[in-house]
Parts: sequence; structure tokens; C-alpha cells
Amino acid sequence: MIRVRFAPSPTGLLHIGNARVAVFNWLFAKRHKGAFILRIEDTDVARSEKKYMTQLIEDLHWLGLTWQEGPAVGGQYGPYLQSERLHIYNNLCQQFLKEDWAYRCYCTPEELEERRRIARLTGKPPRYDNRCRNLSDTQKKAFETSGLSFTIRFKVTDELVVFEDLIRGDCQFDMSLTGDFVIMRSDGTPSFHFAVAIDDTLMNITHVIRGEDHLSNTPCHILLFHALKQKPPQFAHLSLTMGADRSLLSKRHGAFSISEYRKLGYLPEGLLNYMMLLGWSPKDKKEKFKVSDIIDTFEISSMSKAASVFDQQKLDWLSGQYIREADLERLLTMAIPYLQEAGFVSTEESKIDISKLKLIIDAVRGNMSCTSQIVHESEIFFKDIVISENHVEFLSSETSQSILSAFSTELRKLNTLSPEIFKDVLKTVQNETKVNGKGLYMPIRIALTGREHGPELYSVANILGINACKTRIERFLLVKKQPPLLRGIFSRPP
Ligand code: GLU
Repeated sequence: MIRVRFAPSPTGLLHIGNARVAVFNWLFAKRHKGAFILRIEDTDVARSEKKYMTQLIEDLHWLGLTWQEGPAVGGQYGPYLQSERLHIYNNLCQQFLKEDWAYRCYCTPEELEERRRIARLTGKPPRYDNRCRNLSDTQKKAFETSGLSFTIRFKVTDELVVFEDLIRGDCQFDMSLTGDFVIMRSDGTPSFHFAVAIDDTLMNITHVIRGEDHLSNTPCHILLFHALKQKPPQFAHLSLTMGADRSLLSKRHGAFSISEYRKLGYLPEGLLNYMMLLGWSPKDKKEKFKVSDIIDTFEISSMSKAASVFDQQKLDWLSGQYIREADLERLLTMAIPYLQEAGFVSTEESKIDISKLKLIIDAVRGNMSCTSQIVHESEIFFKDIVISENHVEFLSSETSQSILSAFSTELRKLNTLSPEIFKDVLKTVQNETKVNGKGLYMPIRIALTGREHGPELYSVANILGINACKTRIERFLLVKKQPPLLRGIFSRPP
């Protein structure tokens, strides 16, 4: 059975780049009906925090990812928190010492740093010089009695480590360039290499799918698998995700953490779909798809070797598609808290005009990529509109005034408004003014909403209702009658 794992270190919020690694592991497990395992790599006590672990679990669940084994869920290969597996690493470290795979190193951090500095100055690789590997018995005794702290280093053999990566093909590493590496720190915690190789061995991981930044760690892990008498798993190193400037993706590229996207009201299925497009695309090149559409044909080997570029605009475009077809009740539930925070609707839900709110959401959803945008999009229905000076000028033109005045005359004949009635009114105004298209509806749109873009005009009019429409239009008719009052009127918007 295929077994893959996502092994995050809880040292910060889960970002697109790392979440994408989880997504492809999960997809691969689903594709091959295997197990997806969550393992928390929290041996770096100084940087790991429980709150980040809780958050990343919440984020993965929100994205719709489920795992068969992991913290809270359990499983026969647990515990799944590395901090709870220290005894395992310790036992194996003792075994490595006994079997002569490893040795104690008494070099202090200062000595190591000084040697690295000299290596850099003399143009040599800054690898550890293995000097504690061959200490004489007398030297060992002297160090032991001195009480100096020590690390445990793994003996790296000068060999060529060769493996086939499922995405990158043949990979080769000359280990003579790598010094003996630490497997156990002086504080008794395992190094990243040691814990990963042991856990992948004991958890029977068959495929290691992780970011390309780990590619150079893989030969060290392969040597450890060998010492653990374990056939190494297969490897697939995913190309990284970059910002538009080709540097590693970060917040300054506009990419947020998963929890921030969640707070902004993105739909998880849209974000998930977008992440699957980073370094991969389905055979039919369709950009919008459900996991069930692609699961039977997904091949990890078809993933791109080249870095993918994060594109917030594309994410917004795709998310917008999902918002457009989302269930209205769901959008309503998501939108209400943002509207309450903006003070647009009551904090008491029973006092909210739900049917009006649904009309509003339905009218504006086409312009949204996440539900927090409801505040900006629906402002025109809840607040007085503010008109810019350019628009004042535009509305004072002769054509605009003739349209607004004809429109206002028609409105005055009515007691009620519906999308159909509005369309009829518009036709009448068109016949009277002989203006059509954008020329016809722009003055009306600006007078009603203060904006050049927005939902369909008939929806706007229908939601505002006859009285608000009359008031908003009539105010702008004053432009012609009382030019000196212009400023006063428009800074006190209708
Ligand atoms: N803990 C590592 C990280 O967060 C992942 C290690 C691995 O996948 O092998 O980058």
C-alpha cells in the first residue's frame, strides 16, 4: 500500500508553498488509494509552537484535506509528533554508535564556525573535516572526563549516491563533498535528517513528496536508510513556487497564509484548485476542476520541473468563478459577519432583512473573489454614495442631464420598481433621448451608485427600491438648476 506523509514544522503559519506540498501528497494518496499521513516535525523546540500546529491542522481541514494517520487521529505508527518520539531517536542513536555508524564529536560551535570561516577564505567547501571521527582512545577518554558536551555525527562514506526522482529523473550526489553530519544535537534532540529518516522508515513511508529545497538532503537520508537497513522510499521533489520577481514566494508578493485567505473569505475549493495549478495542469488544460475530475489521471511524473509563479490575479479570477456558482445560503452565512463588522447590518441576526441581503449578494457576487469584498461591493446599498469631482462634471453635461431628467420623469410616474419595470423605463428614456448603450446607462449608474462599475443596473434599482432611486436621481438633477450649490450637495451625498 502506498503511504505518503506531509511533515510540516510548526514554526509559522501555513503558506501557499507548503500547503501545496500537502495537497500533492494528499492527491497522490487519493490517486493510488493509499494512506496520507500527517507528521509534525517539532524537534526544533526553540522555533516550534503549539499554536502553529493547531492552526495548520485547522487550515488543512478547511482546505478539505483529510489524513488517515496523524495527531489526534492516531494510527498504528504513532506518535505522530516528533517531540513525542525522542526515545525512539535516542535508542537508534545508541544502536548507530554500537554498530559504528556514528561517533561522538566534541568540537564546539565556536571551533566549527572558525573552521568554516577559514574554509570560506581559502575557497574550500565549508564541510565538517571529520576530525572527531578518528580520535584515539586516550583523546576520547580525555574529552569524556572533561565533561564537554558533544553531538553525535554520522559517518558519511565517500560515495556517489544515485537515485531516481519521480519528477526530476536521475539525481547524483558526490558525498565526498559532504562532511559527517550531526544526527543528535548536544541537547539530546535529533537532527532533521535523523528524525526524518527514522520516521519514514518506521512509518513505512513508500513515497516522499516534498519541496525541491529538500533535494540536497535526500542523499544524507539515503545513507541513513542504508544504516537503518531499510530500502529508501521513492522520492518526488516538487519545484518551488516563486513570486513574479522569481524570488521565493513570500508575503511581499501578495501571497497570504492559508488562514489569512480563510479570514478574507476565499472559498477553500477555489484555493485548492489554484494550488493544484502551481506546477501541474490536467491533460485537457482546463483550469477549473474538482479533485474528482482529475483524480484518475493525476500522475506525479507529469509535474513541472520548472518553478511555478504565484499569481494573485489568477487566484482571484479562479476564486471568483467559485463565488459565482456557490450556494447563496453559504455565501450569506459567510458574508453576514463582514457586513456586521462594517455596521451595514444588525448584529442581531433576527433583525437582518435576509431576503434583501440575498438579493444584494446575488447582484454583486460576480464582482467578488472572496466574501470579505461584500463590504466594498454592497456599500452602495447601505451608505450614502460619495461622488467624485470628475463624476460631478460628467453628470452636469447636457446629455447626462437630459437622460437623468427623462429618467426621473419616468420614475415619478411609478410607485414600485422591479427589474422588468426598470428595463421598460430605460427603453422609454432611450427613445426619448436617442442615447443608448454605455452613454445611456453610465449617467444613471453613476447617479445611483457613485461608481462606473458594479452589478447590473436593473438589480441595483430593484434593490434600492423606487424611493431611493428617485431621491438619488433627483439630487443630481440639481446640478443643472443650482450650479453654485454643487459642492455643498455632493459632499453631503444622497
Ligand atoms: N519538516 C520539513 C519542512 O517543513 C519537511 C521534511 C520532509 O518533508 O522530509 O520543510
